[in-house]
Amino acid sequence: MERTLILIKPDAIARGLAGRILARFEEKGLKIAGMKMIQLDDAKLREHYSHLADKPFFPTICEFMSRTPVLALCLEGLEAVSVCRKLCGVTNARNAEPGTIRGDMAMSMQANLVHASDSVETAQAEVARFFGAGELFDYQPALLAYLYASDER
Ligand code: ADP
Repeated sequence: MERTLILIKPDAIARGLAGRILARFEEKGLKIAGMKMIQLDDAKLREHYSHLADKPFFPTICEFMSRTPVLALCLEGLEAVSVCRKLCGVTNARNAEPGTIRGDMAMSMQANLVHASDSVETAQAEVARFFGAGELFDYQPALLAYLYASDER
């Protein structure tokens, strides 16, 4: 099983879509291993978006991402990283496929509702960035036998 980091961004919080977005991940069958609300500061944003630090739009990302607290989720499942990326859709929400979270509920390149880790290595670093010891939970979802075949569990 893999773990991945999801952030439900300020546009989703402001638009009252957090619950619907969480439901999309739950319906898919991802297990919530951790969840908390957090106000992102400049230091955290610089670390999290270091790959974009030299882009001209970087200051606008920081302004946008700190407008409200975000909901950080650690989701667990088989191939959870790629499953969640697909469920979110491509970065520019206008191009995101219908059926994806961004494709169904957003119109913007920046205000695209969710962050999802882009690789297994990134996911490990990002989960550790947002969740400390004692904030992630190991429990057995009751319906696991109906989510996966016996040779997948
Ligand atoms: P993703 O979130 O799909 O992995 P990136 O890592 O490339 O995409 O970008 C991180 C976030 O920065 C995007 O989700 C989006 O909110 C914002 N962003 C990316 N590119 C732009 C851009 N050209 N203009 C404004 N904001 C952008």
